[in-house]
Amino acid sequence: MTDCLFCKIANNEIPAARIYEDEHTLCFEDIDPQAPVHLVLIPRRHIVSHAHATPEHRQILGHLLAAAADVARQEQLTGGYRIVINTGADGGQTVAHLHLHILAGRPMTWPPG
Ligand code: AMP
Ligand code: ZN
Repeated sequence: MTDCLFCKIANNEIPAARIYEDEHTLCFEDIDPQAPVHLVLIPRRHIVSHAHATPEHRQILGHLLAAAADVARQEQLTGGYRIVINTGADGGQTVAHLHLHILAGRPMTWPPG
């Protein structure tokens, strides 16, 4: 996708503070952190949202969750963390490229806002 912010980050057209990458995923610091640690983990492949995942995406979805665990270990998030996937308008999604938020560094509250 040429007009997608996260595709542009993945393609090095827009800079980001990258902290982890592999063949299928890329993780960088959120530009507007909501916790002491706030990371965004994306598939390199453009998928609009979690709601757009189909059976052909099963492998990449599994890879994303496994990569999140790798990131948490790499960043030594030993106190715990929260993974969030905002989806669609009611889910609060603002960037139309599937992504996981990884939040850590403070106790999270429940229910979320
Ligand atoms: P969401 O609201 O769930 O779609 O999440 C999009 C996230 O991307 C927000 O937390 C933004 O702060 C973050 N974001 C937007 N632009 C950038 C950027 N250029 N670099 C890093 N994070 C960004
Ligand atoms: Zn994209």
